[in-house]
Amino acid sequence: MNSTQTKYKRTVGGAFLVEESDPNSIFIYEELSEEQRMIAQAMEDFINAEIEPIWNKIDSKEGIEIGRKLLEKAGEMGFLGLEVGEEYGGNQMDFITAIAWTEKACASYSFALTIGVQTSIGIAPMYLYANPEQKAKYLPKMVSGELKTCYCLTEPGSGSDANSGKTKAVLNPEGTHYILTGQKMWITNSGFADVFIVFAKIDDDKNLSAFIVEKEFGGVSLGAEEEKMGIKGSSTRQVFFNEVPVPVENLLGERGDGFKMALNVLNTGRIKMASAVTGMAKKGMQWTNQYALERKQFGEPIGNFGAIKHKIGNCNAKLYGIESGLYRTASNIDSKFDELIDEGMSREEAKWRSISEYAIECAIMKVYSTEAGSYMADEGVQIHGGMGYSAETKIETMYRDARINRIYEGTNEINRMLSVDMLLKKALKGKIDMMTPAMAVQKELMSVPSFNTSASTEYLAEPLKMVVNFKKAILMVAGAAVQKLMQNLKDEQEILMNISDMLIQAFVFESAVLRTIKLKNINGAPTAGTEEMTYILMHEAANVINNAGREVIYAFSEGDEMRGLLMGLKRFTKLNPYNLKTARRTVADISLEKVGYVM
Ligand SMILES: Cc1cc2nc3c(=O)[nH]c(=O)nc-3n(C[C@H](O)[C@H](O)[C@H](O)COP(=O)(O)OP(=O)(O)OC[C@H]3O[C@@H](n4cnc5c(N)ncnc54)[C@H](O)[C@@H]3O)c2cc1C
Repeated sequence: MNSTQTKYKRTVGGAFLVEESDPNSIFIYEELSEEQRMIAQAMEDFINAEIEPIWNKIDSKEGIEIGRKLLEKAGEMGFLGLEVGEEYGGNQMDFITAIAWTEKACASYSFALTIGVQTSIGIAPMYLYANPEQKAKYLPKMVSGELKTCYCLTEPGSGSDANSGKTKAVLNPEGTHYILTGQKMWITNSGFADVFIVFAKIDDDKNLSAFIVEKEFGGVSLGAEEEKMGIKGSSTRQVFFNEVPVPVENLLGERGDGFKMALNVLNTGRIKMASAVTGMAKKGMQWTNQYALERKQFGEPIGNFGAIKHKIGNCNAKLYGIESGLYRTASNIDSKFDELIDEGMSREEAKWRSISEYAIECAIMKVYSTEAGSYMADEGVQIHGGMGYSAETKIETMYRDARINRIYEGTNEINRMLSVDMLLKKALKGKIDMMTPAMAVQKELMSVPSFNTSASTEYLAEPLKMVVNFKKAILMVAGAAVQKLMQNLKDEQEILMNISDMLIQAFVFESAVLRTIKLKNINGAPTAGTEEMTYILMHEAANVINNAGREVIYAFSEGDEMRGLLMGLKRFTKLNPYNLKTARRTVADISLEKVGYVM
């Protein structure tokens, strides 16, 4: 399917920080086409029929074998090759469709891992980097579910520092096979995988290479299933490679390109994780609202209490933020893809290049969604009271399952630092002009602030103004930190994490503002609850940006410089009074009426 949704003005990845907000530049969830909705619905029907009735078995070791069989069934039904080319049995869908599908597929407890790894980090290295012969041999069977696959990067001694792995490949004297030896750890789907995508170093290479390893090659053995906090029905084992003979034709991509490939595949995984979180969070909202309506204390449903409405209001706002940033990023990826295809690039190269163009947004969405997901699961448990602590409830499973999301696909610390690092590198390379707007902010700070208090009549005038101001705050704080610390900034992780927090909030909030405005433009009237959620997110963003900004300023400046920066930060994060209590109540009332997410 060719994307029909790439007419939106696309920005360079990361350039949202310096560009003007334009509601017409973003794609929103509500613009999904009939076909995209149908594909997502088909997946939802599958999960409702196959997973929901046995959710508690899925949340146990028994779920591993059930998941394996269901993976085959999903393959038979054509669910596993959404983005894969039609010539290999796939559906060749655009990225937005894949995102909408992932939301439904991964709203499935531990099965989310089983199907997520097969379709994302399992199959992706193959369709992105395999040569035509390798694709013809493996991809159709992976797409049909006949071959189960896993992604073997992590080792006992190399997690976040993935390129330091010790697994080694040495060419045999005949030159026919690489002899692979090493140990991988925490490998999802490994218990039943037939094909292992293994990252290893050839000889004493500096960088990893990637290999397609069949279990049948011999020398592959597995550790026991790990005893985990959550996702108990997902297979996670150690994998041992003991002089495994891998035919030379099973080198994936070029020698030494494995680390680059691994990172590009992880970019896909990161943005898809935001989609997976969205799917599970929507279910969590249903259970929680249902419970709040049914559970009575002090003679009335607990959903009537302000303290409960406060939580429901916040959870909805966060979900609105995730969804807004997610579909904005997905359509940017599709637009870039279409542009590269028009330039004559192959589908495969265009695919990974378009995703890596938005690696900053992928990292941002991974961090925000997984932390918001944990927050929502936690508040869901709280609203369930004692029942939330009972293993009989789905919300308890969701709470445990949510925790891993902040650890894999790059820990949230690594993703935070990456987002800032990538942004600064793009600025250094001249791909994003941060200097001109940063200088403009400095100039503005020297001038007397405007005391024009006449209210603008523009729709969402204050949120729009605050999008601009939040970006100014980031440019001011980050710009000053870069100037002062120069090369040493990379060693100041606390500062990088703070700047990342500011970036994350600015991106998510801006996405929500633009969606709210676009929705009003489309429908001719505001959509219930969207303005309130936008304001809730604005206040969250102002608080985080102000706190994180102050921490950065305190960490590297002093005297007049510090005072000037603090004044600037205050100016750029100052909000008009707004009744958040009423806003949360309004959102919560809609949510309770819908028995779920307001949108
Ligand atoms: C259930 C599960 C499934 C998984 N599935 C897979 C899979 O299918 N394939 C696969 O290859 N891997 C998989 N992983 C591994 C996962 O990707 C790693 O656990 C993750 O990358 C973190 O590595 P680590 O556990 O070694 O933690 P470490 O890298 O040791 O990190 C420990 C802590 O130190 C922090 N830290 C590390 N380096 C830095 C730094 N430079 N600066 C600041 N802080 C730092 C981290 O953020 C973290 O908080 C899985 C893990 C789990 C638990």
